[in-house]
Amino acid sequence: MAQNKNITVVGAGTMGNGIAHVFAQFGSTVTLCDVRQDFLDKALQTITKNLDRQVKKEIINDSQKKQTLDNIKTTTDLAAAVTDASLIVEAVTENIEIKKEIFTTADEKAPADAIIATNTSSISITELAAFTGRPEKVVGMHFMNPVPVMKLVEVIRGLATSDESYKTVKEIAESLQKVPVEVNDYPGFVSNRVLLPMLNEAMYCVMEGVAEPEAIDTVMKLGMNHPMGPLTLADFIGLDVCLSIMEVLHNGLGDDKYRPCPLLKKMVAAGHLGRKTGKGFYDYSKQ
Ligand code: NAD
Repeated sequence: MAQNKNITVVGAGTMGNGIAHVFAQFGSTVTLCDVRQDFLDKALQTITKNLDRQVKKEIINDSQKKQTLDNIKTTTDLAAAVTDASLIVEAVTENIEIKKEIFTTADEKAPADAIIATNTSSISITELAAFTGRPEKVVGMHFMNPVPVMKLVEVIRGLATSDESYKTVKEIAESLQKVPVEVNDYPGFVSNRVLLPMLNEAMYCVMEGVAEPEAIDTVMKLGMNHPMGPLTLADFIGLDVCLSIMEVLHNGLGDDKYRPCPLLKKMVAAGHLGRKTGKGFYDYSKQ
């Protein structure tokens, strides 16, 4: 598939390095782009560590690991990174102004037939598409964390996304051995619209003293067969990310059932963001 040849992944953080990893593993040439070379070096270290894990589990062998790494090059020059791209996957910070910059440059510099996909969790695909002169070629490609492990990709159609672009991205997701699911552009898509209110409700249970965090997580794990309790999961996602997604749902859908839990707001204000800061609903400082 021609569109699966030269892939540019913009943003080498949690999601970007995983996205670069899977494309490279399945034979694409990948250019990974971020604002600083040390971020890119760190991403390559993470990819190497995750490939080692795959070798250990016998999912890939040593030569596939080497080939995957050989398929990835890095750069801090976005304009140069997109000139030969057939598909650009934007995975930068969840901020519309930053994404606008990426979309504008990609639209200016990438070949006219290149598709621009975004991994955004909550920003409107239709709005991002409107920053470009090719809204029919803009699609949501929402991978799950950790990307090399999780099977789902929500393929989100903006208002102007063409059937052809949708179909191409769907087929590309399948070529990565993922399972694409077609979703329309509404706040939170499906995954976060269903998941986040549940996490938010678990936080209300803590705030109202219904039960301790451990007890709430145990109810959901043993009672509902969830692999991870909602508060453990919220700490893993990051409480700031949870809050911003709840705000998108609340503002975008206008229903008070999506109002962010006051305890969530308080914890974010205090800098207790979950695993990444060592403290959230649980304490990770000794790990
Ligand atoms: P992150 O903070 O780990 O990484 C973002 C990266 O983007 C950073 O390395 C940053 O330096 C880079 N960046 C910022 N501005 C840039 C620019 N102008 N040019 C190039 N790179 C730039 O964030 P993340 O968790 O990887 O999230 C990335 C996207 O994926 C977001 O849109 C987020 O909503 C979405 N997402 C995240 C998850 C998750 O679980 N973390 C899951 C699905 C989707």
